[in-house]
Amino acid sequence: MPIFEYQCNQCKKEFEKLVFSGEDKYISCPECKSKDARKKMSVSSFMGNNSLGKCATSSPKDFS
Ligand SMILES: [Zn+2]
Repeated sequence: MPIFEYQCNQCKKEFEKLVFSGEDKYISCPECKSKDARKKMSVSSFMGNNSLGKCATSSPKDFS
């Protein structure tokens, strides 16, 4: 049962959600209830997926 990080595209709220397989289509933002949330890759996922590295470098305050 992986916990994924999401960021709402509407209000930019970041939140974590426990997501079962196939349920990630139904994620909604806890703040504004928007369904327009995108999944953020975990650090471990980044290591095996360099094609997504561009996202990380464009958000310098991720780990502050
Ligand atoms: Zn939101």
